Parts: sequence; C-alpha cells; structure tokens
Amino acid sequence: MERTLVIATFNAHKLREIRAILPGLPAELKALSEFPGAVPAEEDGATLLENAVKKAAAAARFTGCWALADDTGLEVDALGGAPGVRSARYAGEEADPARNSSRLLAELAGRPAERRSARFVCVVALASPSGEVATARGVLEGRIAGAPRGGNGFGYDPLFEPAGSSRTLAELSEEEKNAASHRAAALRNLLPELLKRFQRRSP
Ligand code: IMP
Repeated sequence: MERTLVIATFNAHKLREIRAILPGLPAELKALSEFPGAVPAEEDGATLLENAVKKAAAAARFTGCWALADDTGLEVDALGGAPGVRSARYAGEEADPARNSSRLLAELAGRPAERRSARFVCVVALASPSGEVATARGVLEGRIAGAPRGGNGFGYDPLFEPAGSSRTLAELSEEEKNAASHRAAALRNLLPELLKRFQRRSP
C-alpha cells in the first residue's frame, strides 16, 4: 500500500501513456480498475482542475492509496476555447471520439490552417487518502488538421498537429507523443511532488 500509486483512470490509452512517462518512479503503479467495486468519478466540474482533483481524491479515498488523475481538454481558438472541459462530451452525452472529431471538423469547415490554432491542456492531480492534493498543468500548442490522419494514440490525436510538426499526434510513435505531449509536460511539472512522496531511487 505504502508504495502504491493508483492511476485514477479507466482509459487504457491514458494509463499506458502515464506508465510510459513515469517509468523511473519507485512506486507500484496500479490502475483503479484493479480495485474491485471502483467506478469512474463523474466529471461534472466547471474546470479541468476541478475534475482532476475530484477523480484523484475519490480514488485515494476509495483505495486508501495515493492516487493520480488527469483531466484533459482541447481548446480551439476559433471556437472561443471550446470544446475545453467538455471535450469528452462535445458531440453529446453519448459521444465517442469519432463523433466528437466529426463535430469539430464541421465547426471548423472552411477555415484555413492559420485559423485552426488549438492546444491540449492537461491538468494532473495527486491526492492522498487523508485529502492532501497537489496539481500541475501541461500544454501542447498546435492546430486542427483538415481531416483525420494516423492510427496511433486516441481521442482527438488524429486531428491534432503539434506546432512545428506536419504529422498529427496519431502519426507519431508512442515515444514521440510521450516526449512532447501535454500529459508528459503536466507530469514533469508534478514530478517534485511525486518524488516528495515516493523517494527517488538511489542512483
Ligand atoms: P478526459 O480527460 O478523459 O476527460 O478526456 C477529454 C477528452 O479529450 C476525451 O474525448 C478524450 O478522448 C480526449 N483526450 C484526452 N487526452 C487526449 C490526448 O492525449 N489526445 C487526444 N485526445 C485526448
């Protein structure tokens, strides 16, 4: 229990990315789904921060272990920052990645590349069973492609071209995405807090 860090997500892609980004952390990373009876927290916060804290705190209370959660949003400038915190439900409550992406492309139809700027914002939260919380944020600037490309990654990855790249995130290898992503940046910013709790291995 002492050295367990619960990853508070039911998204297999996120879990895989977080495990790949934090390989040196001297903690046993466990998925929340490994705990019988665990259910996803409702993501009804007004901000990414509220949702990330809610997910991490609920998982820490439920498991009795420290827990890490992320909440991510895609902010598109031409849409006033939408879908933002509503990224998962952009095409409605029953939305899935394909429908969300179709809606995004429809909203941006006819706009040239220079008016398709966007960013992924990821907020991560670390919570203890007794209610302590630390948070950090990571951003990846880029733009929305004219059509989906690539088979890697998940969610909006086939539509997102990081700044300076002609490939979408879904055309990058796992290693390339994890070296540059909003999630990696957020976890890097949280690392001092993680290391405070899970002491660094001796070199
Ligand atoms: P949430 O953080 O799980 O609430 O995700 C919000 C929405 O953004 C969902 O539609 C996800 O599929 C999508 N999403 C989250 N992280 C990423 C990512 O790294 N790449 C692409 N889409 C993502």
